[in-house]
Amino acid sequence: MNTMTDLQDARKTVFEANKLSKRLHRQVGQAIGDFRMIEAGDKVMVCLSGGKDSHALLDILLSMRERAPVKFDLVAVNLDQKQPGFPADVLPKYLESRGVPFHIETQDTYSTVKRLVPEGKTMCSLCSRLRRGILYRVASELGVTKIALGHHRDDMVVTLLMNMFFGGRLKGMPPKLVSDDGRHVVIRPLAYVAESALERWAGHRRFPIIPCTLCGSQDNLQRVQVKKMIREWERQYPGRTDNMFNAMGRIVPSHLMDRNLFPFTTVQPTGFAQDGGDHAFDDDEQACAPAATTIRWHAGEIPTGPISGDWT
Ligand code: SF4
Repeated sequence: MNTMTDLQDARKTVFEANKLSKRLHRQVGQAIGDFRMIEAGDKVMVCLSGGKDSHALLDILLSMRERAPVKFDLVAVNLDQKQPGFPADVLPKYLESRGVPFHIETQDTYSTVKRLVPEGKTMCSLCSRLRRGILYRVASELGVTKIALGHHRDDMVVTLLMNMFFGGRLKGMPPKLVSDDGRHVVIRPLAYVAESALERWAGHRRFPIIPCTLCGSQDNLQRVQVKKMIREWERQYPGRTDNMFNAMGRIVPSHLMDRNLFPFTTVQPTGFAQDGGDHAFDDDEQACAPAATTIRWHAGEIPTGPISGDWT
């Protein structure tokens, strides 16, 4: 009886893992194609922090490379920041086992962050600035053409809200951008992937996760709080994170108020009715209901223009 149940459980686990694998590969392929993230001949540097997200990114890109419509190279780069207790041998061993070229850059940013950031203050902002500079330099030295980061859909939504709540601007985390030193193209192939899917994938693949000891205990961070808020919203109103995420790709400048994006000062009557125009005189329920209840694009299903090759 027990054996039968065990067998059924094992089958179910394999089935679920296959389903998840397909979804992840489809979503990553879709993001790469939609934003033309990887092109023929690219050398893509995957920034591997040792966390679940960057592990998943490398893992998925490695398997996608086998059947991608274009040829590209991968190199994994880890920055050993000299955090106390950092198990320096874990990633090299893992990367050797995966047969991927890699580079470990050793720089003691830990001491710098500890010295400069007062106790109780957020360490990530200085730390990530230092990390970024080092990774850009390494990218130039390795001659890479793209830098791939492991940020996912939830990171992008959190950043959008953080910028609104604390920065007073409508600005998110783009799937593709030019680095702030102007010398590199940065890509986020996990842009369409939900964090919960990456958590499950990391569990299934048993990645050798190395937690960050520098900020791991900083539960009071605004980012952590916003993330909790989004998870709570998602629990109460399933689909809300997707809606917020998809809103970033469906912007209506005429219904915001940035004068650089829309010529409000010269607006004139057009003389004809417009679909999707203003509903200034609708009551709140009518004006809001369609957006809240019927627009349910899911990550990876965003309508876009033509893509180069089939990445899905
Ligand atoms: S998570 Fe850790 S390593 Fe990453 S930016 Fe924050 S402090 Fe630095």
